[in-house]
Amino acid sequence: MKIDLHSHTTFSDGHLTPVELIQRAQTMQVDVLAITDHDTTDGLAMAHEAAGKHFPALQLIDGVEISTRWHNFEIHIVGLAIDKQHPVLQDFLNQQQQKREERAVNIAEKLAKCGFEGVLDRARRYAGEGQITRAHFARVLVNNYQVNSFESAFKLYLGKGKRAAVKAQWPGMAEAINVIQQAGGRAVLAHPVHYDMTSKWLRRLVAQFSADGGDGIEVVFPGINADKQAFVRELAQEHNLLASAGSDFHFPGRWTELGRCGFASEVLTPVWHDWDLKSSNSSIEEPA
Ligand code: AMP
Ligand code: MN
Ligand code: MN
Ligand code: MN
Repeated sequence: MKIDLHSHTTFSDGHLTPVELIQRAQTMQVDVLAITDHDTTDGLAMAHEAAGKHFPALQLIDGVEISTRWHNFEIHIVGLAIDKQHPVLQDFLNQQQQKREERAVNIAEKLAKCGFEGVLDRARRYAGEGQITRAHFARVLVNNYQVNSFESAFKLYLGKGKRAAVKAQWPGMAEAINVIQQAGGRAVLAHPVHYDMTSKWLRRLVAQFSADGGDGIEVVFPGINADKQAFVRELAQEHNLLASAGSDFHFPGRWTELGRCGFASEVLTPVWHDWDLKSSNSSIEEPA
């Protein structure tokens, strides 16, 4: 069974609409898909409608990816199998969305000081009805100004400590975990190897996430060296966290394909272990 529990649509910084994402899931023969847009669940209804029409066998899990702050790091927490209509969750996401708006204005001001005028309107246009993210600013800098690549947009301007970096007032991890759980979901620490922190900090992060009541942790990262992945699995085991697997899909590509997150472990319990999945074969599959 092919399971992917981390993906994005145009409702945040993904390139595919919910309908296109569902079609992609069909092409890639994904059986279970969680859509986890940044701080919004607005794409989920459309995705369910599309799945019903085009790919009824797909098991769609309602999800979200929440931005939080821990020390000087922005930590992402994925909520899985949430009740997307839960009022506590929606109130919380409204606040997150307001913070995104405020941050976008501040980023644009800083970019203007770097000589990039008129960035905000363009970034808003790219974001459309979805949540505005730094990825939209990066797209503007590459497409409309003389920045070479998406990567260098982050390296030079948008990344942590760079010229247009803005510290958003994200909530702490405990609050996000609590909201996800109140909405009936499981809280999963997203991509722990992507925070650019030392092993010592990562160990502290996972310990705090667990102490805050977190349920699970992503343990599969295509292209990440085996030692790092083994370290994350060791931390998962040490803190009794459920194991999740997701591609963090934003757009089709060789390294970033939907469903490329096969997960095999004899010791870790998958986050989906007690979900009512339709397939007769719910065993864990070797990575493709
Ligand atoms: P935000 O949630 O608005 O801070 O935007 C973060 C998003 O930008 C992430 O989810 C990634 O999709 C993207 N991103 C962040 N850092 C980088 C980077 N160094 N290179 C490419 N994409 C990045
Ligand atoms: Mn993203
Ligand atoms: Mn993330
Ligand atoms: Mn993500």
